[in-house]
Amino acid sequence: MSSTIDGIMIILSSPSGAGKTTLVKLLAENKNYKISISHTTRKPRDNEVSGKDYFFTNEKNFQDLVKKNEFLEHAKVFNNFYGTSLKPVRENLDKGLNVIFDIDWQGAQQIKNKKLKYKLITFFVLPPSKEVLFNRLSNRDMKDKVIADERMKEFNKDVLHWKDYDYVVINDKLQECFEQISTLVDSELNKTKNNYNFKLVEEHVNKLLS
Ligand code: 5GP
Repeated sequence: MSSTIDGIMIILSSPSGAGKTTLVKLLAENKNYKISISHTTRKPRDNEVSGKDYFFTNEKNFQDLVKKNEFLEHAKVFNNFYGTSLKPVRENLDKGLNVIFDIDWQGAQQIKNKKLKYKLITFFVLPPSKEVLFNRLSNRDMKDKVIADERMKEFNKDVLHWKDYDYVVINDKLQECFEQISTLVDSELNKTKNNYNFKLVEEHVNKLLS
């Protein structure tokens, strides 16, 4: 049973380029959520800072952490390893702080299966269209447009996981998407009704896949 003082876990997943990382930062700043900083074997991008965006590590260290059972979840995404350290997450939740995770569907699944005592709310973020997604991916710091193409190919597969989430939100306008997530979290916490429209989401997914 979750005690009243425990924090809650909020997971945001999405196909690459849907704007999830920006949303996570916005939610953390405005709602005072603690961001779970993952470990990764991926090389840092130009603007990324170790200990803030990720704990950048090598494969050997990463596998050591796996062996020591340090991770709440871990997965291979786009040929790199990513994992969430359990200790800081648990410490924050036990202090009553809410923790937000920017992780993929594999990690979300693993955390869901662990059935921890903390309340969990999961969100899947989608782009408004494939065209917008491609533009967002191409406008990243990625010097190599091949990566944008690769990630577009993954898109059709990733989208199929939308049904495993409590809520699916469409990130067309950042502020509106942020407000929608905030409202949905509040409605869950206060156990009040919300205007989540499953039918609309289903239609949007079908459009993205057509
Ligand atoms: P990026 O390399 O673009 O920062 O992230 C690639 C993907 O890995 C994103 O979908 C991101 O949410 C996911 N990711 C980041 N950290 C973790 C983690 O700790 N665990 C899992 N399972 N996925 C993660």
